[in-house]
Amino acid sequence: MLKTAQDLIRRAGERLGLTPGDIEYLLKTEAEHEFEIELTDGKRFKAFRTQHNSVLGPYKGGIRFHPEVGAEEVRALATLMSIKTAAVGLPLGGGKGGVAVNPREISREELEELSRKYVAGLIEHIGPDKDIPAPDVNTDSRVIDWMVAEYEKLTGDKTKASFTGKSIENGGSLGREAATGHGGVIVLREVLEELGDSAQPITMAIQGFGNVGSYFGEIAEKDHPNWRLVAATDSSGGVYSPNGLDAKETDKFKRENGRLAEYKIAGARTITNDELINTEVDVLVLAALGDVITEHNMDTVRARYILELANGPISEKAYDYLIQKGIIIIPDVLANAGGVVVSYLEWLQNKAGEHWPEARITQELEQYLTAATRHIFKRAVQDKISPTEAAISIAIERILKVRDSRRQQR
Ligand code: NAD
Repeated sequence: MLKTAQDLIRRAGERLGLTPGDIEYLLKTEAEHEFEIELTDGKRFKAFRTQHNSVLGPYKGGIRFHPEVGAEEVRALATLMSIKTAAVGLPLGGGKGGVAVNPREISREELEELSRKYVAGLIEHIGPDKDIPAPDVNTDSRVIDWMVAEYEKLTGDKTKASFTGKSIENGGSLGREAATGHGGVIVLREVLEELGDSAQPITMAIQGFGNVGSYFGEIAEKDHPNWRLVAATDSSGGVYSPNGLDAKETDKFKRENGRLAEYKIAGARTITNDELINTEVDVLVLAALGDVITEHNMDTVRARYILELANGPISEKAYDYLIQKGIIIIPDVLANAGGVVVSYLEWLQNKAGEHWPEARITQELEQYLTAATRHIFKRAVQDKISPTEAAISIAIERILKVRDSRRQQR
């Protein structure tokens, strides 16, 4: 994933005529922190925080608890965060962190100790105006609330602006949980309108019916009755129903039973994840993991659009192949930016000591993503480049413009 992210930046930079020095500047990380957390019972875990670029504002990005977390993945995700915040016009930089742990294999007490020690290990490097982490894979508001409490204990800061993704009672924002899926719906709607494709009904398949995928499905169902969800999977596989799936009911089954492969309803059949990718639909929604479409399965895709709600779900080779085939890839840095937009709104509320109603959050989310989508797709058409390249080009230009104006002021 790191290579794909870096190659996309390198390619966009070369097309924009940047100097090798500027391209290196965009690729390099400003700081990388790697340390070991030892729990009182002796268990040890490797912890990471990468701070990629802060020219637009404090670093922003999630913390992932997963056994496969490593320096390279964290670096790739931090790089994508800098591009994402810049592409949607937020005054924030990019960072990412994680701990190589399977949270299901440790107790609640150990999880709390791990979360607090993660903060203690980074205390010099994070804070409301330096680096504002958020939840990511396997971390949630409970983990973030422990982290905020530890930050407050060690620094005396009471603003709650040190982390986003907190519980509502602890300074979290309304609309944050649904924000990434909700943002995906707004972006897809705008893309269809921008490309003159919004009048016809569309069919969709969702890979990864977790937090992001299920909110996307439910909000799409509510806001767009002419978008039909025909397939959905999780890591166990899932269901295909040509007549359409009820997203709310599908989510209810998933929450109560855990495995979508066991979801049985009239007119539907069980499918594997390979079959989901091979489903003939208008929009394939990737909301599970990185690198799920590669050279091994790229020729099985039969969708017209791919909405990248996961980070980096398409490898570089597959990306070139799919673009060549005329498939429109709606890039992750735009499609899943709803989460970081509402994180930014949470941070603003904490700094101002305010709590905004959900209607205001939705309105601001709409404004950021509508403007960003139009800008990116207009640029793609104007420069005859893919939306991914357009998003990266816009982000790069914003970062370099601010860097250069700072240099001139010195
Ligand atoms: P989640 O853990 O809630 O959901 C992930 C879902 O994917 C689960 O249902 C899991 O069973 C399924 N899955 C795992 N492997 C799969 C496979 N091989 N095939 C099909 N399904 C599979 O996570 P989430 O918060 O919904 O995040 C999903 C993706 O979106 C991640 O890549 C994450 O980095 C990205 N993302 C999340 C946010 C956010 O706000 N949560 C923001 C930006 C990007």
